[in-house]
Amino acid sequence: MERKYDVIIIGGGIGGLMAAYGLRKKDPALSIAIAEKGRTVEQRKCPAAGGKGCVYCPVCSITSGFAGAGAFSDGKFNLGTAYGGTLGEELGEALAMEYINRVGAVLDRFTPDGVEIKEYGSNEALKLKCLQNNLRLLDMNVKHLGTDNNLLIMQRLIRWLQENGVELLPNTEVRQVRAVPGGYALDTAKGPTEAGKLIVATGRNGAEFVGELCRSFGIAMKSNAVDIGVRVEMKDAIWREFSSQIYEPKILYRTKTFEDRTRMFCFNQGGIVSAENNDGVVTANGHSFADPAKKTENCNFAILSSIHFTEPFNNPTEYAKSFSKMANLIGSGNVLVQRFGDLIRGRRTNDHRLGQNTVIPTLKATAGDLSLALPHRILTNIIETIYALDKVAPGTANDDTLLYGLESKYYSIKPDHDRDFRICEGIYLIGDGSGICRGLSQSGAMGLYVADRITDAL
Ligand SMILES: Cc1cc2nc3c(=O)[nH]c(=O)nc-3n(C[C@H](O)[C@H](O)[C@H](O)COP(=O)(O)OP(=O)(O)OC[C@H]3O[C@@H](n4cnc5c(N)ncnc54)[C@H](O)[C@@H]3O)c2cc1C
Repeated sequence: MERKYDVIIIGGGIGGLMAAYGLRKKDPALSIAIAEKGRTVEQRKCPAAGGKGCVYCPVCSITSGFAGAGAFSDGKFNLGTAYGGTLGEELGEALAMEYINRVGAVLDRFTPDGVEIKEYGSNEALKLKCLQNNLRLLDMNVKHLGTDNNLLIMQRLIRWLQENGVELLPNTEVRQVRAVPGGYALDTAKGPTEAGKLIVATGRNGAEFVGELCRSFGIAMKSNAVDIGVRVEMKDAIWREFSSQIYEPKILYRTKTFEDRTRMFCFNQGGIVSAENNDGVVTANGHSFADPAKKTENCNFAILSSIHFTEPFNNPTEYAKSFSKMANLIGSGNVLVQRFGDLIRGRRTNDHRLGQNTVIPTLKATAGDLSLALPHRILTNIIETIYALDKVAPGTANDDTLLYGLESKYYSIKPDHDRDFRICEGIYLIGDGSGICRGLSQSGAMGLYVADRITDAL
């Protein structure tokens, strides 16, 4: 594969794809490649999809491959800066919104005729109801693609990139980067290659790669927060008042006992709970399809508790992983599931009780006891949050509500960067892997922004 490109984008998720789109739109002559450690989007198949447990593929097709971690997501593009990252702080509200809206416009361009994409706005009455119960409902415009349309739109975007001369390099993990005159030499799973500039868009999954890159180039890194918690599943009707009006309730809460901040997010109406393998650790997540025929009678969302570590500890990712590993250990390599009623009575859920549950689990997980895998502080925060949410959506704290664990989000390192998201001359870091973003819109916006900075400078 020895070849020299003007720009190599490492990682084919939304950040990398939008960067390639932005570069190609502005400069048809630029030679661009996307090196992606996973498969092509068409070849991404999870062997556990038939309800079997995770079989620990060397490269997880759920989190890796063209279209990135968001390939099978619910495709909720939050068109704002109130959550999903801190791009507004980095660029200023107006500029961040300009690029977030441009992501929306690219999605529109690749939406096939006849496919209707739903958009949701804010709702004052629901915001007030939450405020009256010590909860803060975050509001933002949301473009909801749904899993099926999201994948279709990503496939169309990828095809356009290919047709316009962007080279796609699947199964091409970049292992090492070294400076050479005029650019960088990359050691990849398919052999060496070179580029004048690099856009690193490796997502959460590439945390170790980014850490190593920064260490080898002497780039300072700051430790970031970690969020640990569970995926919660119940009957869809319980949250319908919210989901029918704003689609995705994102709610913040400050817990009474520890005064910690928790958040309810990643809501999936009529959705399913899923398992994902992050470097050998299986965690819970969730998504839903836009196609009414694929809807379930459940909804699911995450409740996560944020922890900000202070000196001297600086490895929040390992901390979060160690608890997920504990849950996998107890769950024989799988995610744990527990009824809320069992959790508050201090007993494990067993197959018998799960079999009688009114909420039918949408993920085959191991019935067990989450209190054996979660620290007391986080467990207390989660239980308090469920009772708080029950006040605005009665039934949330029902005995039959299911909690899957663990789910965690880590954004452990935030390397030093300039205003163009350049971590050193010729290397740009974007998306979830930058420690700045936590979602599709802002990752995509960073890709478009960096593409403009690179082409402006040419
Ligand atoms: C199940 C699920 C549901 C989600 N739902 C939503 C949602 O509805 N809305 C939302 O806003 N966000 C959602 N998210 C989060 C969203 O998917 C991410 O924020 C987004 O994908 C980040 O984009 P990215 O391009 O930065 O990274 P990613 O999408 O993670 O892409 C990074 C890519 O880089 C590749 N890579 C990593 N290391 C290397 C390497 N060394 N060499 C080559 N390639 C490498 C990976 O294989 C991966 O494909 C969801 C995530 C999951 C897992």
